[in-house]
Amino acid sequence: MKPSRRHFLKLAGAAGLGLANSSIAKTKARGHDAGTAANKVTVDHAVATLEDGSTLATPFWRIESSKEGPSLLLLAAQHGNEIHGAEVARRMKDACAQHMVAGSVWLIPMANLPAIRVRRHSVDLGPEQPGRFSQGHNMQQAWPGNPDGNNTQRIAYSLDQAVVRHCSHAVDMHCWNQFWAAETLATIGHAPSQPLGQATTTRFISYRPVSQPAGKVTSLTQLMHHRGAGAIAMELSGQYQMQHRQVQIGLSSMLNIAKLLGMIPGEPERLEGPQVERTRENSHEVLAPCAGIFMPALQKGTTATLVPDDFVEEGQPLGHVIKEGDLATVPVLAPVAGYLWQLNACHGQLCDASLPAQHPYAAEGDQLALIVTC
Ligand SMILES: [Zn+2]
Repeated sequence: MKPSRRHFLKLAGAAGLGLANSSIAKTKARGHDAGTAANKVTVDHAVATLEDGSTLATPFWRIESSKEGPSLLLLAAQHGNEIHGAEVARRMKDACAQHMVAGSVWLIPMANLPAIRVRRHSVDLGPEQPGRFSQGHNMQQAWPGNPDGNNTQRIAYSLDQAVVRHCSHAVDMHCWNQFWAAETLATIGHAPSQPLGQATTTRFISYRPVSQPAGKVTSLTQLMHHRGAGAIAMELSGQYQMQHRQVQIGLSSMLNIAKLLGMIPGEPERLEGPQVERTRENSHEVLAPCAGIFMPALQKGTTATLVPDDFVEEGQPLGHVIKEGDLATVPVLAPVAGYLWQLNACHGQLCDASLPAQHPYAAEGDQLALIVTC
């Protein structure tokens, strides 16, 4: 095994904040209008030997600056139906080519090519089956991979060898269903991961304690933490789709992280309004008042439909139910002011794979919305 680059990158990561200030003045002169890429972009491949003896080459971008510093990884689409991160990686590549002044960036836009090709969460799933039905092919549980394991474990192994083990910081970019707002899944009690969680631009953030494995490493973030590297996961909103707004959230989060680590000059861009920690205490469920079809309301003063992430006032219409019994229009109002974390029902927790689970017919008492107060 070739030596990892992380020994010096770890040191550089610790010094990242210092680097930031010294580099601002220098690059301001180069500016955003330079038009020519300052850093070389390389397309490389992580090559896995599969069970049948064939090979699978997973492409990735690597951008190196001329100065040592942190090595930041974006790993996208471990799950084949969670694809916003692929476009985040493409835009991050261009931004880093232009503006990165320290360290290196490693971008894997399509980590799980077999799952992407079948357009499902994991390669072995059939129709209507969410990720938990996978029999050993959930890449999120395959780290650090195994060169003698199943194909998903072999691909994870090739990605670790070619990319992950070289990285001092990582963002594992996922997407959950479209009825839930984007959220950062940050880690507390782990110094290298702290700046990553602080810099994202999702409206919502939740914290998990670092899981130093007494047991087995399975996820990418666990693997990074185990190695003393910083890592968080992000969940953008919506699977099977590419939405500009979600890509922007992913990109601004990555740029902010690069800025905090001193890799790109400038101050992180802050979210308008607060970043809201979602807890059991500040989450307010809104239940369907009767059985029928739910129609969401419009954002105040616009012709756009309310979506998760939007702020609502107490008493503001969230929508209405067309009641199945007598066809009455039954309003659904916000019981509190806050940010919408969920709007519309995900039935049976199956809506990342099943169309009926996304159907707006609600039974009485189904959860139609979740509002988080701040
Ligand atoms: Zn996922």
